[in-house]
Amino acid sequence: MNREWIHALPKVELHCHLDGSIPMATLKELAEAADLPKDWMEQAVAPALCLDLKDYLSTFDAVLPVLQSEANLTKAAYAVARAAHEENVVYLEMRFGPLLHQREGLSTRQVIEAVCKGVEQAMAEFPIFVTILACALRHHSEERNTELFEEVSKLQVEQVIGIDVAGDEGNFPNSCVEKAVKTGVDSKMLLTMHSGETGSYENVLTAIAFGAKRIGHGVAIKEDPESMAIVKEKNILLELCPTSNLQTGAVTGWKDYPLRAFMNYGIPVSINTDNRTVSDTTLTDEFLICANQFDLTKQEMKDLNKTAMQHAFASDKVKQEVINKIDFFGNE
Ligand SMILES: [Zn+2]
Repeated sequence: MNREWIHALPKVELHCHLDGSIPMATLKELAEAADLPKDWMEQAVAPALCLDLKDYLSTFDAVLPVLQSEANLTKAAYAVARAAHEENVVYLEMRFGPLLHQREGLSTRQVIEAVCKGVEQAMAEFPIFVTILACALRHHSEERNTELFEEVSKLQVEQVIGIDVAGDEGNFPNSCVEKAVKTGVDSKMLLTMHSGETGSYENVLTAIAFGAKRIGHGVAIKEDPESMAIVKEKNILLELCPTSNLQTGAVTGWKDYPLRAFMNYGIPVSINTDNRTVSDTTLTDEFLICANQFDLTKQEMKDLNKTAMQHAFASDKVKQEVINKIDFFGNE
């Protein structure tokens, strides 16, 4: 498969963490300004094979110290959106946990507004549409997460369209965040949840019961035909992140990766980076790997991006604009 064609294809990314996706040049700039050791940010890239999800997530410890000011959050959000635009991502949902950026006293509102500022700058300069998801972290207390979603739903910030739950799924199953998630959903926030990343298809079913419209990863359902039938029947999109899924041990190898199986079964799926820097990847790379591993055709890659957009947490107008762009591509 031709890399140039995939690069040029207008692409949609639904699952991209801000803190895990900041370009290395920007990270180094922020580390230098913070007087951190010269090679500090090398820890921000995860090994090709981690011990488990928790090990993979430990890379974020390197990045978080420089993401505690409004100026740096703005710079980081801008840089992530620009990097996505540079490989022709035309719609990006950027997610992050506001509570992770409050070590030096920023409020949830300040954190979110700083990220929005960076996103707006990028949208003013480049033809990319970016929306934001606020994540609760599984290891935070249920009270803090409930307060977070209460606050996020009251903010009335146009770009913030949905909520997510991220973090250590192995030790903190979905039951730990039920109250917080229900608070968000009851306030009309659109819900996606990391689930089924560490082997539990039960978590996928719980997330759907909580009202999730999409699932982050969800690969564990490949072991359970009943779960697969429910996900298909309810038209829940799985946000697959192939490189990340191999790194964290969500699957044992490409032969075991369920992309083609889900597509054949009729489950809506999208392809994502998860973390561009931590996983040292781009959306172009993820599509290229999948094209080679699963013999994806050009039309299938266009369709995967269109499916992603149909399930995006965006207005119908934005959805139609992006879908038209994808349809038009290659027909000029
Ligand atoms: Zn993720």
